[in-house]
Amino acid sequence: SPELARAASLIRSIPDVPKPGIVFRDVMPLLADARAFAAVIEAMAAPFAGRFDAVAGLEARGFLFAGAIAQATGTGLVPVRKAGRLPRPAARRDYTIEYGEATIEVQDDLPPGARVLIADDVLATGGTVEAACHVLREVGCRVVGATVLFAIPELCGRERIGDIELATVFEG
Ligand code: 5GP
Repeated sequence: SPELARAASLIRSIPDVPKPGIVFRDVMPLLADARAFAAVIEAMAAPFAGRFDAVAGLEARGFLFAGAIAQATGTGLVPVRKAGRLPRPAARRDYTIEYGEATIEVQDDLPPGARVLIADDVLATGGTVEAACHVLREVGCRVVGATVLFAIPELCGRERIGDIELATVFEG
């Protein structure tokens, strides 16, 4: 669609952020455009239509997409946060990131067996989505898949997340 083509043009590539040699994909210009934002929210939700009860947003940019998807689809939201930020964490997972370690946590506020769609802005190595899936399952959720705005194929995130169903709007 013309809206999605326009949305693609609003993802900015910033060389040497956060480190020399890395190209950071900046989705803020896309969020600033009402029609592009609406088009990508619809595209992120569509592959999983009718199959989820709540959206799990990954801190921090994933929150922006998860909240919008939840409102557009009449579903709930669960934040998956960096360690130490939630008042009553029920599951925690350590995982490796490109240069080091990270830890995420989630609360157990959804009913047992809730069907959850993971949402984030960018899939890079897949470590964050994989860890999110782990903590969500630990609190009793059924993870139906993950939806991301943008995937970077060279970093092989799809391989790392294994059999978790993945939808991407843009790749490159
Ligand atoms: P992964 O765990 O897949 O290696 O990294 C994904 C996480 O890092 C996501 O939460 C995502 O927000 C962030 N991330 C990694 N690379 C980029 C990037 O180029 N642009 C943006 N916006 N986020 C990135």
